[in-house]
Parts: sequence; C-alpha cells; structure tokens
Amino acid sequence: MEKRYLFTPGPTPVPPEVLAAMAEPMVHHRGSDFRAVYERALERLRDVFRTKADVLLFAASGTGAMDSAAANLCTPGQRVAVVTAGAFGDRWVALCEQYGLDVQKLAYEWGEAPSPDEVGAAVRESGAGVVFCTHSETSTGVVADVQGLKQAVGDATLVVDAISSLGAVPLETDAWGIDVVLSGSQKALMCPPGLAMASVADPLWERLPQSRSFYFDWRRARKAQEMFDAAFTPAVSLIRGLEVALGLIAEAGLDAAFERHVRLGRAARAGLKAMGLELFSPDDDSSAVVTVANVPDGIDGGELLRHLRDRHGVTLAPGQGHLKGKIFRIGHIGWFDVFDIAAALAAVELSLTELGADVERGVAVPRAFEAYDEHVAV
Ligand SMILES: *Cc1c(COP(=O)(O)O)cnc(C)c1O
Repeated sequence: MEKRYLFTPGPTPVPPEVLAAMAEPMVHHRGSDFRAVYERALERLRDVFRTKADVLLFAASGTGAMDSAAANLCTPGQRVAVVTAGAFGDRWVALCEQYGLDVQKLAYEWGEAPSPDEVGAAVRESGAGVVFCTHSETSTGVVADVQGLKQAVGDATLVVDAISSLGAVPLETDAWGIDVVLSGSQKALMCPPGLAMASVADPLWERLPQSRSFYFDWRRARKAQEMFDAAFTPAVSLIRGLEVALGLIAEAGLDAAFERHVRLGRAARAGLKAMGLELFSPDDDSSAVVTVANVPDGIDGGELLRHLRDRHGVTLAPGQGHLKGKIFRIGHIGWFDVFDIAAALAAVELSLTELGADVERGVAVPRAFEAYDEHVAV
C-alpha cells in the first residue's frame, strides 16, 4: 500500500481526532445527544469568525454559502459589484449573472491584489448596493485587503468569500464591520468537504428581501438555529467533526494558527526559490494560504502533477483557468506543519529532476526549515 500525501488548498488533511469523531454511531439530530454538539459547534464558529452575529451552517460545499448570499441579499436586476482577480472571483461573476443580477465587474489580472481605492470609487459611481469579493484568492495565492475594501465601499453590503482564509489569516468580521463572511469546512477548518457557513451582521436582517432559495433561506436557517435545531437534516457526522476541529483550533489559539500559516508560507517560498523556481504568488507574508510557483520552461505542468501523484503519492494542485499547466500550487491551510512543506518541496525537486528540469538539488528543504524558524512579529 502506497502512502498518500495531500498538499492541496482544499480538501486539506484532517486530524485523526476529527476523523474519529465522525466515525461515531449515528444519533438523531433532534435530541439532546446531538443538540449539545451542535450548540458548541455554532458557538465555536462565532469565535473563529470573530463575530457575535449568527453564523449559519449549511450542508453544502463552500459554493453553497456563496449561492446563499446572492439568493438572500439580492433581487433580480439589482445592481451589484463583483471584485475578481482569479478563478473564485470569476465564480462570483457567473453566480451573480445566473441570479439575473446587473453585475458591475471590477476585474484585475490574476495574481494582482484589488485596490480598495479603485473599488470604492467604482462602487460609488455605479451605486451598487452589494459588493462581492474574495479574501484569499486560492487560484493565485493573493490575500486581499478586505478591511480596506470595507472602508472603501462604505455603506454598501460587503460579502467576503473567506472559504480558504478563515482560520488561516486574520479576518476580524465585527471589528472591520464586514457584513457577510462565508466559509467552508474543507480548508483551514480541518474537516472534510460538506459544510458551508455564512455569518450575517445583525443590521442586515431587517433589510433582507425574500430568499430566492428554499434550502438556503437565511431566515429559516436562523430561526431553527436559535433553538439549536436545523431547518433540514443537518450533516450530523460532519458537524461532530467540526466541533472537534474547532476545539483543536481554540485550544492552540487563533493567533498561533495565523503565525503558523505565515511561517509555512515563508518555508514554502524559501524552498521553491532555493531550487531555482519562480514564484507566481506574492513573495511576502500576506501569502500564507497557498504558495504558487511557475512551472519551469520545458516542463508540462499537467505531467509534473501526474508524476508527483503516480510516482510519489504526492498530490499538489494545478493551475486553474488560463493558468492550467503553467503553475502549480502547494496548499498549507489547516492541519499542516513544516514537515509537510519539506515533503512537498522534496517531492517537487525530485520529480522535476526526473522529468529533466534543471533545478538546484539539496538546498530547498534546509532553506525551508531556516525560513520557518525566523521570528514572526505578530
Ligand atoms: C475552495 C474555495 C471555494 C469553494 O469551493 P467548493 O468546491 O464549493 O467548496 C470558494 N472560494 C474559494 C476562495 C475557495 O478556495
């Protein structure tokens, strides 16, 4: 049996305690057995979201939370703005268009960071009442300044896709006044895919139109959750896992998680550069979620990833959209440590050598450990 290594930015590795909790016998979701777990999970979600507001929990992949935002915040034909600088920003555009919204697209090159000033000016000019954006653009490794974006858009409702960033990099929902924050279970929250979350700031509730989705109706979800119930059968096993995972995060502390992610990013960048590769993601500490490198000349990115997986059991993530084949991505969100980075780097170095690329050998892993050990000011 070959050992497998999962170094993608979602799904991410799941700690054994979480897996064990999910393997427990089934219980009914409307009873005291489950209610206590559900209550704790919802409470701990508030802590990770850094909010006192309700965090709604749905059985869905992360995109379900995005879908719920368009369905509950907007009416057909409504003018909205979408900030996009990658595959997940483009998902907002497609989703909003499918809901029949009048989309003002504020597009940046993939790999660029959106400018709060530009976005603020464009939103003021168009009068868009809702602005959709992405905190960590997982397709490029760029983490946007959502605090700045909220300041720039003022009274417009800001919806932040924090699916790959929540729990990995700081996001102060209440302190920054962010109206809606969305996340998913399979990234920094160290669970399998299948749970989607949406925090909704209190003042929004009075202004919400009728939901255009039955399943993702925020009002119905909130009413049920107030009684530690769920509108529909919740994903019992996943919520059990989430409760344990959030407990692990709370135990170590969120600040420790943020610091670890910065150091993992440093280690990944240092290692890739040491073997002579060029970074696609920003070469600074903002890029703490996923590290992205250009595939070296003469090497096919698809072949590199297949080689890594089939020969060495190592799964990395490919480029998305027009970057397919041109870049590869090493995720380091959630249950990752520096030895995971070392393994990923060693596997990349070995595979590139086997495929005939001219890479510097034997230096990436030591450089990664050195970079990981450097002090992080928090
Ligand atoms: C993973 C991810 C999503 C959600 O994808 P799902 O496959 O629906 O879980 C959305 N946005 C970003 C930025 C992501 O990284």
